[in-house]
Amino acid sequence: MKALIRWSLRFIPRPWLQRAVPAIFPILAVWYRGKRYECPICQSRWRKMLPYGRVQMRANALCPKCQSLERHRLIWLYLQRKTDFFSAPHKVLHIAPEVCFVERFKQLPQLKYYTADLESPWADIKMDIRRMPLEDNSFDIIFCNHVLEHIDDEQQALRELYRVLRPGGWALLQVPINYELEHTFEDPSIESPEAREKYYGQNDHVRQYGRDYAQRLEKAGFRVKADAFVKTLPPDEVRRFALPANEILYIAVKP
Ligand SMILES: [Zn+2]
Repeated sequence: MKALIRWSLRFIPRPWLQRAVPAIFPILAVWYRGKRYECPICQSRWRKMLPYGRVQMRANALCPKCQSLERHRLIWLYLQRKTDFFSAPHKVLHIAPEVCFVERFKQLPQLKYYTADLESPWADIKMDIRRMPLEDNSFDIIFCNHVLEHIDDEQQALRELYRVLRPGGWALLQVPINYELEHTFEDPSIESPEAREKYYGQNDHVRQYGRDYAQRLEKAGFRVKADAFVKTLPPDEVRRFALPANEILYIAVKP
C-alpha cells in the first residue's frame, strides 16, 4: 500500500487523483474499519489510517473517509476548542480550500463562507493571491494553508492577505517548515522542478521555510501567535486522532 500511494502521488496528476478517490475510498474504508483511530472531522473510526507522504511515508496519516491529514485534524480541533469559529458569525475566505473542510464549512449557517483558488473551477472566487479582487478590511477569518511556499513574491501575497482582513481579524497561514533551518532558504536561480525537489523538497515549492517564518509574516504587519496547541492535548488524543506531534499553528492577527 505504501509503495502504491507513493507512486501515485509522484506520477498521477492531482486532478486525476481527486477524481479517483471517491471510487477507491469506499473499498478501502471496509478494509480499514476499526476502533483504534478516530477522525474528529468526519467522526469515523479505523483500525489504522492510510499512509501518506511524498518523500517519507507517514503511517496513520490520511483518513480513509474525508481525506484529512494529521494537520487538518489538528486545525479542526483548534477551531473547535480555541475559537468561536463554529458558533459565531464570521465572514470567511478560504484560499486553496482543503477538500476535507469545504463541505463541512459550507454547511455552517452562521458563516459567510467563500472559497478562492487560482485554478480550481469549483472555487467561488478565481484569483491570484498576489492581486485579490477583494475589498479592503472585508474578512474576519482567512485560511491559507500550504500556499505561500508556492508563491514567488511571498511579501506581496502577505500584503494582500493583510489588506483584505479586517482589523482584529485573523488568518491561519500554515506552511511546511524545516525547524533545523534558522533562516528560510530561497534562491531564485533554483528554477527547474528537479532542483526545487532537491533543495526545497517538492518540485513546485519556491523556498524552504525555517524558524524565521513568524518574522516573515510580521514584516507584512501581522501580529503572529505561534501556538503549540498539540502540546496541550492529552497524549491519548494525539494518538487517537493521529495528530502531528510537532506542528505549530501560525495565527496571524491584523492589529
Ligand atoms: Zn475523516
